[in-house]
Amino acid sequence: MKTTEPHQSEHEHEHQSSSHNHNDCIDSALATAETLCVQQGQRLTKVRRRALELIWESHRPLGAYQLLAKLAEEGFNSAPPTVYRALDFLLAAGLIHKVESMNAYLGCAHADKAHKGYFLICDDCHNVMEFDYQDIHTALIAKAAQQGFELRAETIELTGLCSKCKSKAAGAIA
Ligand SMILES: [Zn+2]
Ligand SMILES: [Zn+2]
Ligand SMILES: [Zn+2]
Repeated sequence: MKTTEPHQSEHEHEHQSSSHNHNDCIDSALATAETLCVQQGQRLTKVRRRALELIWESHRPLGAYQLLAKLAEEGFNSAPPTVYRALDFLLAAGLIHKVESMNAYLGCAHADKAHKGYFLICDDCHNVMEFDYQDIHTALIAKAAQQGFELRAETIELTGLCSKCKSKAAGAIA
């Protein structure tokens, strides 16, 4: 799990503009996955790898049942336990995140760096951007500690309009 240690710098996904080459996202995610699995002494089995690729088909989180249906179409053993085991593996390896409010899974673009996954969810296109903001993390820990509470998980999912949909909306009005 790559989400337990705070990350030093803030980063945002700069590659999610409308014009980005999504194949680059997929290639780099798979390369990172291969490297991490070797480092962790894990095997990126065919079904794990394909599940990751399918989740990375877009920046829209994919539900377990959608994934199951896609894998079944391709002739994989798509029994729910197989699919959930693959998802558990990818989650534990930090290669994907679960977006709780959507009950769906999103590929992580910086699985090799320790970070908190906070999410910006577009109401319109349902793309999800991940951001990591150290100040929020620090503030949450401090505020929770004032209540004598030790934080274990932070689920921060913000909804709104992404820049692409915002400019589309503005264009429609003009
Ligand atoms: Zn992309
Ligand atoms: Zn992430
Ligand atoms: Zn959008």
